[in-house]
Amino acid sequence: MSEVRTRIAPSPTGDPHVGTAYIALFNLCFARQHGGKFLLRIEDTDQTRSTPESEQAILDSLRWLGLEWDEGPDVGGPHGPYRQSERMDIYGKYAYELVEKGHAFYCFATSEELDEMRREQQARGETPKYDGRYLKLSKEEVQARLDAGEPYVIRMKIPEDGVCVIDDMLRGKIEIEWSQVDMQVLLKNDGMPTYHLANVVDDHLMQITHVIRGEEWINSAPKHLKLYEYFGWQAPVLCHLPLLRNPDKSKLSKRKNPTSILYYKRMGYLPEAMLNYLGRMGWSMPDDREKFTLKEMQQHFDLMRVSLGGPIFDVEKLNWLNSAWIRENFTHEQLAERLHQWAFNKDMLMQALPHAQSRMTTLSDFAPLASFLVSGMLPLTEAQFTANKLELEKQKEFLQFALWRLEALRFWDKDTLFTELKTLADQMGIKVKDALAPIFIAIAGTTASFSVVDSMQIIGLI
Ligand code: GLU
Repeated sequence: MSEVRTRIAPSPTGDPHVGTAYIALFNLCFARQHGGKFLLRIEDTDQTRSTPESEQAILDSLRWLGLEWDEGPDVGGPHGPYRQSERMDIYGKYAYELVEKGHAFYCFATSEELDEMRREQQARGETPKYDGRYLKLSKEEVQARLDAGEPYVIRMKIPEDGVCVIDDMLRGKIEIEWSQVDMQVLLKNDGMPTYHLANVVDDHLMQITHVIRGEEWINSAPKHLKLYEYFGWQAPVLCHLPLLRNPDKSKLSKRKNPTSILYYKRMGYLPEAMLNYLGRMGWSMPDDREKFTLKEMQQHFDLMRVSLGGPIFDVEKLNWLNSAWIRENFTHEQLAERLHQWAFNKDMLMQALPHAQSRMTTLSDFAPLASFLVSGMLPLTEAQFTANKLELEKQKEFLQFALWRLEALRFWDKDTLFTELKTLADQMGIKVKDALAPIFIAIAGTTASFSVVDSMQIIGLI
């Protein structure tokens, strides 16, 4: 058999997700177990949502966890570039090749036309789906429209009936009726590929042998398998891992559980414990031991032992494991080193001192002034907010809106933070000073602390 090659293919649209690390970990272990290669490819075809900051955060977070890739945008490799935005000139010709072969077609539908089509289908109680209206245009008509410069997309053809059988490594045969599968757009009207085209072309060109990804992609598998068939390429082995879930079994979501790896890093979790915990998501060591290193996981890895029941990502369990790692796997010397790397270092002091110095009588004043910067969640109660001028309800409202706005920020510096909070206060007709009071308490536990946006900036630096 040829060399095993696996990959993680994150889209850089937001904070690095623990689910990405989980899938990356299983891909890495599978590749290592077979003496193969593990790649990282950035899927940034959606230029409106992808950001370089998000890409950097993904690379940094995966590396912080100790996951290393053999080929990728930052380390290079023989099948690069590994960032889809740098491969844009590759995809078009494959879409046209399928048109040539009769497996894909030009679709000239305008967005209004498609909206109308969907509305009619919904009115008839049908699931909206492209109805094939441009599939049967004559060659001449297509040419005439192209000559007239009409905008178009390229869609793939889908069999009219029958079932697609997906042979999943873990799940066995999965059957999906072709009638459920949409005639997927492959090339958009700006000439850019969709995820489906770019993903299949790249997995082929990068010689990926096993696609191990989350179960949310099962419904895309028929399109992908069909594309491999149309191109005449060998499809990789597919394996859809179970999705991580909240303790209430719903799909892991940040409203119920922090999902950003940055959160766990910032809160002082150990990368070893995080990886260990992710390794236990649906998988266990042959001897069922709960604590293991990445190396041990690689030595004993067997993908077939993944269980399909939705693994629960439970912060309580992670806490238990993290504390076990802290107690049992670190000498005082090593732990001191970790604390130093994390936040107890001169850089951090230099950030805090300009705000603390004028408030200090003795050196011992420093710790109480700055402790909130290195604390996790502050034990806040509603009573702490009652002395503020705004009514409690209004404060809650402001905090919630502020949270949503701040979560969406790409840059975390004090000027941006201030502008954002001030704009919100203006929009809500609240004086900035009154609006900032609850933020002060949420951040520092008191209104008598450093300037709140300075504090927020420093907290964001760790
Ligand atoms: N870019 C996709 C994602 O964000 C990759 C899915 C796949 O692995 O095929 O998850």
